[in-house]
Amino acid sequence: MTTQPTYQLWFLTGSQGLYGDDVLQQVADQSRTIAETLGGSDEIPFEIVWKPVLTDSSAIRRIMLEANADDSVIGLIAWMHTFSPAKMWISGLDALTKPLLHLHTQANEVLPWSSIDMDFMNLNQAAHGDREFGYIQTRLGVPRKTVAGHVSSPRTTQKVGIWAHAAAGRQAMRTLRLARFGDNMRNVAVTEGDKVEAELKFGVSVNTYGVNDLVEVVDAVEDAAISELVKEYQDLYDVAEELRTGGERHESLRYGARIELGLRSFLTDGGFRAFTTNFEDLGGLRQLPGLGVQRLMADGYGFGGEGDWKTSVMLHTLKAAAAGLPGGTSFMEDYTYHLVPGQELILGAHMLEVCPSIAAAKPRIEIHPLGIGNREDPVRMVFDAAPGEAVTIGIADMGDRFRFVANQIEVVEPLEALPKLPVARAVWKPQPDLATSAEAWLTAGGPHHTVLSTALNGEHLGDLADMLETELALIDASTDVRSFGRELRWNQAYYRLAQGF
Ligand code: MN
Repeated sequence: MTTQPTYQLWFLTGSQGLYGDDVLQQVADQSRTIAETLGGSDEIPFEIVWKPVLTDSSAIRRIMLEANADDSVIGLIAWMHTFSPAKMWISGLDALTKPLLHLHTQANEVLPWSSIDMDFMNLNQAAHGDREFGYIQTRLGVPRKTVAGHVSSPRTTQKVGIWAHAAAGRQAMRTLRLARFGDNMRNVAVTEGDKVEAELKFGVSVNTYGVNDLVEVVDAVEDAAISELVKEYQDLYDVAEELRTGGERHESLRYGARIELGLRSFLTDGGFRAFTTNFEDLGGLRQLPGLGVQRLMADGYGFGGEGDWKTSVMLHTLKAAAAGLPGGTSFMEDYTYHLVPGQELILGAHMLEVCPSIAAAKPRIEIHPLGIGNREDPVRMVFDAAPGEAVTIGIADMGDRFRFVANQIEVVEPLEALPKLPVARAVWKPQPDLATSAEAWLTAGGPHHTVLSTALNGEHLGDLADMLETELALIDASTDVRSFGRELRWNQAYYRLAQGF
């Protein structure tokens, strides 16, 4: 089970002492109501903590430092109910390290045409108070999302909710420890990357363990635990006859369970929430881990094949962002195409490791030969992905920084059954069309390994990228290759200038 940590979003209200206590009391009451409305929204699955109205720079700086220090705080929402002279926000915003959402709203939805007077005008002046706040954030270069609208509007809570989910992903990433079993697949370029930069930029700690450290744990798993897990497999999934208890290849299923239990115990003991394997470096493992990897992904673990730690980081991050949302999130690889004009589709899969959170129906556990890895036939879950709107995203290391490349897609039913394909798979239609998507993706240098999510959309990815101050090259319905290429060149200049020396 993916457990939802108790995350908080702090709600900050800006004002000033000029208005007097009566007005500030009204400001406090109204901002508390807005915070409660946000907290009551199904779109925002985290606690909204209302904070007393801020009217001076030392209180603002203090609350920013408290938010920085509190691991349960995943972001701040700020609203200038009245006019809050923004110089008082400079030192606080400069100190802030958590994601910020600027909510541009006001307490009343209706302008009281017949009764409005100067008292009402003085109380409800976010229309210019928030402009003062927008100016100082831009002047200071503070990364944030700006959402304008009344809190009763579904658009407002939806956009805040998307940002909040992205903030939960960022928080998971910042505390992530990743174990690599073996190094990257030999000679592969795109799975390489700067682990020092990743720890600085994303907060993720990536370290390698000898695969035989894992083998020791796998070999030590007790038979009783294996029997129990095998029973769970047989209850939960459609298990091939030859693998079931009494079947001629049952021992292979038991070894698959042994790998899962060993992996689980290694990862739990080390506090790891993501990992990689490499079929070139399996040490004493008798099968390439397939079924166990699939089950761990379903429990929220990040995974990347061939030592691909960057995709593994993104997978855990997006699983944390997607927690509580319908749909699933999986490791994925662009595999092969259907290029019939007018029907163009991508078939994505991996050797074994696709997460059953995206499955359309109960997965089937099967055993088949695997041409690589030089080990015994591995057990794996086989299924088709459920149709729906989705995104794919990959991370490329550009040498001096990371770039996210993403595509809005639609997962569709396979055009025909795939009875001879012994792996889980997804079939999708990329936006705006396969040729444009692929030309843009290749132009951006996007990787072949991705995370596919039917729970998240391009706005989640955009919010996350902004929080991480990392480029996102998003291919969507409006993409054309020529302007996309220009965007990449401009971004290249921007991100080099932005990081300074
Ligand atoms: Mn691969």
